[in-house]
Amino acid sequence: MLFNHLRFNRRQASPIAVPLQMVGLLSALIFLIGCIFEVLVINDLYAAQHFLLALLLVVLATWAILEVSLIRPGAIVVPLDTLRLALWLQLLVVVIRGLMDLLINPYQAVVGGPLVAPDFRLAIIFAPLDLLVFMLISRLIINAFSYTEFQRANQLEQQMTALERAQQALQQSEERYRLIADWVDDVIWTLDHRGHFSYISPSIEKLSGYTPQDLLHQPASTGLKANSVPVIEQACQAALVKVQRGRPVESFRAELELTHRDGSSLWTEVTMNGLYGPGHQFMGFVGVTRDIRERKGYEVELREARDAAEVANLALLSANAVLHGQATTDTLTGVSNRRHFEQALAAQISQTRRYGEALSLLMLDIDQFKTINDRFGHQLGDLVIVELARLLKASLRKADLLARWGGDEFVVMMPHTAAEEACQLAEQLRLSMAVHVFPVVPRLTGSFGVGELLPGETAEQWFARIDSVLYAAKAAGRNLVKLSA
Ligand code: GH3
Ligand code: MG
Repeated sequence: MLFNHLRFNRRQASPIAVPLQMVGLLSALIFLIGCIFEVLVINDLYAAQHFLLALLLVVLATWAILEVSLIRPGAIVVPLDTLRLALWLQLLVVVIRGLMDLLINPYQAVVGGPLVAPDFRLAIIFAPLDLLVFMLISRLIINAFSYTEFQRANQLEQQMTALERAQQALQQSEERYRLIADWVDDVIWTLDHRGHFSYISPSIEKLSGYTPQDLLHQPASTGLKANSVPVIEQACQAALVKVQRGRPVESFRAELELTHRDGSSLWTEVTMNGLYGPGHQFMGFVGVTRDIRERKGYEVELREARDAAEVANLALLSANAVLHGQATTDTLTGVSNRRHFEQALAAQISQTRRYGEALSLLMLDIDQFKTINDRFGHQLGDLVIVELARLLKASLRKADLLARWGGDEFVVMMPHTAAEEACQLAEQLRLSMAVHVFPVVPRLTGSFGVGELLPGETAEQWFARIDSVLYAAKAAGRNLVKLSA
């Protein structure tokens, strides 16, 4: 900024120097020609030449005035007003001298010939007068130059003082930043345009055991573990490609693993940005490395706690599933128990009523089961019940729900099934039961009661109706299916 001012002022100084030099030259010429003029007067030469010289003097004096008036108003202020007055005085002198000459020799001035009245007195007056005016103008030009130089020197001094102050401020600010960089726990560093360390704050030693001197001029990947090296290298390369394309470097942030001088490893968080000089010129990178061991430790603890919680949750879920199974299934056979069946049936009844669908129920009671128990023992009786449950389940459709109602009694809920179809299914079950080979027991039959839910009927009424037809099947000789119409 300050240097710009200096350059600007140098450019400004030249438009003054040239016109002033020109004015000096013109005044010297005027003085010289004035002298020649007076010499001509004294030597009584031709008036026409005399007249032309007077004219030339007027032209030169006017030119000098114009030169001064051409000095730009924006230029450094110099005492031009006095000079301008002196130049007007010079013009006045030459005009008066010329006019006086013309008054004295009017005819000869036009047609030529020697002077009528060569006036020695005028020459004696005007020659010193010309000299005085010339000396005055020369003096004023020198004054103008010195004033200009004085002003420029003044300005230069002011600019130098401002420059010194700016440098001092810069130095102070640099010292302040250096102090901050030296004392913060984070490591502050810069990389040159090749990605090599050009500065590292002393806190690196506390973090990694290496001193700044160990790492200075080394690549940015120095001291990183093998898994982190490509991360920083790729970031630098990507940034350099951007710089080559004239695009700004994007901010980079990553977690990188360092190798401590003692061989241990530690996690750090690295933030990196492009470093630009005056005129937005790319100079390298500036970055901060932060120790995140503590955070990483918390993260590991958190992950472990989460994993433990997940394991506990899974255990809870499976325990819940076991409990749920125990609550809904019959422990001996594994099919649904009575409680679960009643709940499912209640839900199915309300759905059936809402959509006007058919719903049938089947009840099965093993024939003469007491005898089996008596003959083969209670344990074998259990095995027979389990085998029957397996057989029934295998024979039923997917939508049907089988449950052990209690003792040697089973029930089947058959959604979307009308009485006739339910009756057919019961008949199939009866047959497959009768022909099935059960463990030890030579033959096993069952009696079946079947019925479709009637409109407006309660579950209890429906059950009682089917129970009664089952009883009827028993009474009619067993191994029978009875439909409650
Ligand atoms: P019916 O043809 O009239 O049904 O004759 P039944 O002998 O089967 O008589 P009922 O159905 O009234 O009696 C069922 C018997 O089943 C009573 C009991 O001894 C036996 N029982 C009930 N629950 C179990 C059980 O869990 N295991 C075994 N092994 N026997 C059971
Ligand atoms: Mg029975």
